Order: sequence, then C-alpha cells, then structure tokens
Amino acid sequence: MRGVELAPNTFAAAGLDRAAWRRRDDAWLAQPGTRALVTAGGELAVDPDGAPLLVSPGDAEPLDGTAPILLGERGGAPLGAVEVAAAPRGARLASLRELAPALDQEAGGLAAYAVAMGNWHRRHRFCAACGAPSLPAEAGHVRACPACGVEHHPRTDPVVIMLVVDRAGDRVLLGRQASWEPGRYSCLAGFVEPGESLEEAVMREVDEEAGVAVDGVTYRSSQPWPFPASLMLGFDCRYATGEPVVRDGELEDVRWFSRAELGAANLPPRLAIARRLIDAWVARPAG
Ligand SMILES: [Zn+2]
Repeated sequence: MRGVELAPNTFAAAGLDRAAWRRRDDAWLAQPGTRALVTAGGELAVDPDGAPLLVSPGDAEPLDGTAPILLGERGGAPLGAVEVAAAPRGARLASLRELAPALDQEAGGLAAYAVAMGNWHRRHRFCAACGAPSLPAEAGHVRACPACGVEHHPRTDPVVIMLVVDRAGDRVLLGRQASWEPGRYSCLAGFVEPGESLEEAVMREVDEEAGVAVDGVTYRSSQPWPFPASLMLGFDCRYATGEPVVRDGELEDVRWFSRAELGAANLPPRLAIARRLIDAWVARPAG
C-alpha cells in the first residue's frame, strides 16, 4: 500500500535535469540539438498521433513579449518550451486533462512544466511593481523590469486538498460543486492564504466549506496543477466536531461516504490527487 502513496502524481516527476546553471549559457542554449515543446493558452501542441510536438526553437514564433524557455537538460541537450499564439501548421492544441491518460509519467510531467511556464509568461507580461512591460531573462525563468529593476520569478499558488476521515476511520467527507458533472464528489480544497501555515489552511477550509472542525492534519503528497499555476498539497485529516453543512456557497452538497459507497460514487479521474487521496485511504486498513 505504501507504493501507491509514494508513486509520483500525474504531472510530477518530469525526469529531467533542470540545469539551472545553464540558464545564462547562451552558447549551450543555442546548440543545434535543442528541441522545444510548444504551448499556447494553457494547452500543448501535439502531432496528428497525439504525441507532444518537438520543434527547433527557431521554428516556433514566441508569443509577443515572451521568449523560448529552457526546461532543462535531457540526453545532453537543452529541452525547452515556446509559448505561441496558435497551433503550428500540422499540429493541434490539446488540454493536459485530455492528454494525461495517454502520456507516461515523464511526458506528463514535462507537459505540465511547459504549460505552467507558458501560462506564467503569457499572464505576467507587465511588471507587477510599476506596470511597465517586463522582459524574459535567464532562459525564461525570470522576467526583468527595465523601468524599475525588479525581477519577477515564476509563480506557484499553493492549494491544500484534504480527505476528512471520521473518528472511527470508516467514512470520509466529500463535497460537490454545482458546476461539476452530475453526481461527482471530491475532496475539499482551497487556496492557502497569506500568513497561515498549511495545516491552518486545511482546518480553515474545512470549516468554511463544510462547517466541521478537524485535527490530525497529515501530509500525503503533492501535484503540480498548471490550471494556471497551482501546486496541490494533499492531506488527510481527522474529523473532530460539527455537523457537515454547506456554508460558503462554494459547494452545493457535502456528505459522508463509506468505503462501500465510494465504490459506487462518481469520483475524480485517476490523474487527480483527490482520487489518489481517496484510493489510498480505501486501500489502507480500516480504523
Ligand atoms: Zn517595474
């Protein structure tokens, strides 16, 4: 059972050397063997067979205000990404959710890394300190402001996602949002706020969304979630007090599920950390 929890989540473990020391090495970056993934608007370009498109960086025109990005070193050569305005000729754009089930661990990790970097450049073309247009630097890992000198770094937004387990260890608390497909239930989740620890965020979110107090917050695993820039931090926690009730308008229902009820429930797809948290709990001995 431990293996289930220790295997990397989908979109993690891209399996390349990020080679941060190469980000200022222009000669190395320009070598002929350089290849790049192509991203646009949060999606990845794929060939007609659905395989991620790999181009020479010079063959893809970066979106205005962006530049080719170094993801890292693989097989001795630079592997990059280019955010473009539209799908290159002969390719189509596909969402990570569509692609993930058909990609292996490393390809899924690379796709998510590339899309996350493209999302950051596309959405942060102006300096957040003074409003002037910023310029890509350090192979796309910095955006520097020529007006005020501030350097901006790729942004990752922490989200806690948690499985609430009852005191007896035989039921878990799941919720559903009105916008989800009919019958879908999943773990509670929410953004970490400034000035709080992860465990405080878990306790606050469960109280806000479901009106119950929890303790015993236990970290499980994490998952890059580039929609557009989240890092999902997965926890189990233990029910303490309160009657579950929808409170903040984010959920339309929240209820307990036994192991047997989970077997018949409409749960998130296996690529999602929510499903991993649920499956790992089901696989663990009761109590
Ligand atoms: Zn500035």
